[in-house]
Amino acid sequence: MLPPSFIESLAGTGLDAAGRDALCRTLEAGETPVSVRFNPYKLAERPEGEGVPWNRYGFYLAERPRFTLDPLFHAGVYYVQEASSMFLEHIYRSLFGEGERLRILDLCAAPGGKSTLLATAAGLESVVVANEVIRARALTLADNIRKWGLGNVAVTSNDPSHFGALEHWFDLIAVDAPCSGEGMFRKNPEATAQWSPQAVELCAGRQRRILSEVWSALRPGGILIYSTCTFNRRENEENVAWLVENYDCEGVRIETDPAWGIVRGEVPAGEGVPVPVFRFFPHAVRGEGFFCAVIRKAEGRVRTRLSKPRRTVFTEATRQEQASLRPWFGQPEFMHFVRIGDQMYGYYEEAYPAVREVAERLSVLYSGVHAGQLYHGKLKPEHPLALFHDLAREAVPQAELGETAALGYLRRGDIPADGLAEGMNLVCFEGVPLGWIKRIGNRTNNLYPKELRIQNL
Ligand code: SAM
Repeated sequence: MLPPSFIESLAGTGLDAAGRDALCRTLEAGETPVSVRFNPYKLAERPEGEGVPWNRYGFYLAERPRFTLDPLFHAGVYYVQEASSMFLEHIYRSLFGEGERLRILDLCAAPGGKSTLLATAAGLESVVVANEVIRARALTLADNIRKWGLGNVAVTSNDPSHFGALEHWFDLIAVDAPCSGEGMFRKNPEATAQWSPQAVELCAGRQRRILSEVWSALRPGGILIYSTCTFNRRENEENVAWLVENYDCEGVRIETDPAWGIVRGEVPAGEGVPVPVFRFFPHAVRGEGFFCAVIRKAEGRVRTRLSKPRRTVFTEATRQEQASLRPWFGQPEFMHFVRIGDQMYGYYEEAYPAVREVAERLSVLYSGVHAGQLYHGKLKPEHPLALFHDLAREAVPQAELGETAALGYLRRGDIPADGLAEGMNLVCFEGVPLGWIKRIGNRTNNLYPKELRIQNL
């Protein structure tokens, strides 16, 4: 049952009475479409199936499979993401060219849907800072970033106010704000139970606080994408209007195809371009409820002097260390290798200085590609290197497993030694890497990380 005051609040969404009825019926009884976004760095060919019109890598599935039982899910070949949120790619492509090198912040990032999307759209020499303030959620975010395997992301766990240390630093900031979740009512009945007009007010206040705290980190002329998965005006248009009133900014023009079913609106911005807002209503689009607005910070003088760095954790890799790491990377000439403690990491050369600036000011949980530890010049590879899209496949022998054996590997079960080479092997399913296994004589050592193993099947 939908709360009566929620139904009343829908009058503010711009839907007429018939539209509001259709929306409520869909929220109460409609089936949630299932969609995934594939990883073009791991899968060269687009899978079959009906595409999500606003995202070239998104497609709908006829039914919801048990994703846990698909080894390719664990290999980062696709990300399960509801279709409306994939609209960020359309925004990105409308504003930025292919190969443009950007500094991007995804401020409210866990579990990682928008971060993996942005990391893919932005290309390998851009940097995406994927931030999540809640530590436990940030750890899940880091797992998903490692699994996606692009190497162009730094995962941080900071309060939005900490980003003041990176004044005028980001070209693009996505604020996918914590919200009252009305758009998730059909997918997640708990969201209905937790909803109240007071919760809406609380969320709206928190969203303004978050926006005001992160605003200084956006460079003049930079883009802010504000999004929620809720319908009410308080958390959506009214917050955009508040931003326009209090900060020097305006909208950006973005085209959409009317056939997509997205409801467009505008928030006036004085003399400037009105801010376009996009509403996804589940009775009209194949996706969940979603709202987003695209805002450009006014041009102005960019201050680039950063706060004093904390002590750096990075040590440049020695020539010898570099020589030991190079064979593991498909294109080592694009990489910059460093040591953090006793562990070796790789970064895209062009992006490294930016990652370093972030790491010296914020609380970084993970960044780049964790390669592993060197013992007398020999690398003991870590899991993220197996999932890195540009691992040099000739670096180690590969063990291709069938589905049952691959699931056994992902459960951290015993894998028979026959068929494996002595020493380290890369375990693959359908040619895609899942992780490492070591053979020592007749024994094998399953190196799949304990904390990722699949359970309860
Ligand atoms: N962008 C994510 C994705 O696409 O997978 C979903 C983000 S979810 C809508 C909002 C996130 O904001 C949650 O992970 C939540 O933990 C985080 N959050 C909660 N309170 C916050 C706060 N005060 N400041 C910043 N983020 C907050």
